[in-house]
Amino acid sequence: MKNLKRLIIITGPSGVGKGTVVKELLDRNKDIWLSISATTRNPRIGEKDGENYYFISDERFKDMIVKKEFLEWAQFAGNYYGTPLSTVNEKIEKGFIVLLEIEVEGAKQIKEKFPKALSIFLLPPSKSELEKRIRNRGTEKEEAIDRRLRRADYEIASSDEFDFVLTNHDVDETVKGVFKIIKS
Ligand code: 5GP
Repeated sequence: MKNLKRLIIITGPSGVGKGTVVKELLDRNKDIWLSISATTRNPRIGEKDGENYYFISDERFKDMIVKKEFLEWAQFAGNYYGTPLSTVNEKIEKGFIVLLEIEVEGAKQIKEKFPKALSIFLLPPSKSELEKRIRNRGTEKEEAIDRRLRRADYEIASSDEFDFVLTNHDVDETVKGVFKIIKS
């Protein structure tokens, strides 16, 4: 694949299927490297430190903010999430296409800092389908589900600030759509 931009942001509301789409992108193109974020949220069952996230304390996260060790960071549903700067730089220098799977505030920060980064917003087919997907995932308690759904309204309203918007009806279709965008 030629002419791929070096930094690609996949954003959209929690539950839209970003993780599943990203996993397929990584499986289908070995030049893509997914940034591993740091978070203060507790690991879910089966999640591993250094694989899904770097699970760190509030104190450590705040220290990293002060030391400017994040490319971007945001608060989401009561926790902090951020992209560590050093590995992203390193991977871009090595020629990888770096993929960030992040929420909307962080994605906006990247757009400001790097207008050339390619941003793709994934929309759910409907609000009820989004709720169904979050519930089916079974990873959040009721209160956390509510927070995520409330935040989704705000996030969806920002979708037109991004370069491309794809409605995630079907993972395969969406993945093909993403490859079409990054090849074009
Ligand atoms: P979850 O708790 O479901 O893993 O993630 C919650 C939200 O945080 C998701 O929308 C996810 O994409 C986003 N997120 C994950 N890592 C980062 C990050 O490094 N920065 C930002 N801004 N959002 C992130």
